[in-house]
Amino acid sequence: MITLRNVNKTYYTGDTALHVLKGIDLHIEQGDYVSVMGASGSGKSTLLNILGILDHYDSGDYYLNNILIKNLSEKQAAAYRNEMIGFVFQSFNLINFKNAMENVALPLYYKNIGRKKRNAIALEYLDRMGLKDGAYYFPNEMSGGQKQRVAIARAIVSGPKVLLADEPTGALDSKTTEEVMQLLGEQNRAGITTIIVTHEKAVADETRKIIRIKDGLIQHIEENHPVKSN
Ligand code: ADP
Ligand code: MG
Repeated sequence: MITLRNVNKTYYTGDTALHVLKGIDLHIEQGDYVSVMGASGSGKSTLLNILGILDHYDSGDYYLNNILIKNLSEKQAAAYRNEMIGFVFQSFNLINFKNAMENVALPLYYKNIGRKKRNAIALEYLDRMGLKDGAYYFPNEMSGGQKQRVAIARAIVSGPKVLLADEPTGALDSKTTEEVMQLLGEQNRAGITTIIVTHEKAVADETRKIIRIKDGLIQHIEENHPVKSN
């Protein structure tokens, strides 16, 4: 599903260059459930943004479902991202002036699905997240856990093949973390290749592989045997 070969990424700020990814080689199978761990600043978000076609890399190759992700126009990148990827962020990234249903329906707008149909689909996904009653709440009326459940619904509403989550439980307490992990695990069991960046051992332990990044390189990949029935 995902293959990276010798992927490099440098950020330039003013006249300083920061070589963040220093030759990442990685293969992730379809349906895999993977976490990425590493110190702050080690390049985890950079890697996830490249995987999610939110950012470019400088050299090497990235194949997503046998398509080489390189030199795509903004339009091509957006289209392939919409088709393939769902993204969940630590800070939820919901649109504050839209209610839960409208937030979840937004990706369907970009697929040219009419309002009535996309709202109906959004309600169905909110229901699956246990949020049917919260459909008309605005983000500032929701708890962190509720916001993240809306964000997960939004990430999967258009049927992505890959779900990427950048510290999705970083702003949540441990009980809510467990609820969110339950939902992410369900998406993986439904067949979505799932990759979670996390600082939390308990979160990583629910995945089947733990990738450790240090100073822009993969240090090792650990096969994990989840304690839970994920
Ligand atoms: P992590 O997610 O592991 O904490 P990041 O991938 O966010 O790490 O960042 C890796 C390094 O790159 C950090 O030193 C960070 O400050 C730097 N960095 C991240 N994004 C940018 C950017 N857009 N411009 C310049 N430097 C960046
Ligand atoms: Mg990060």
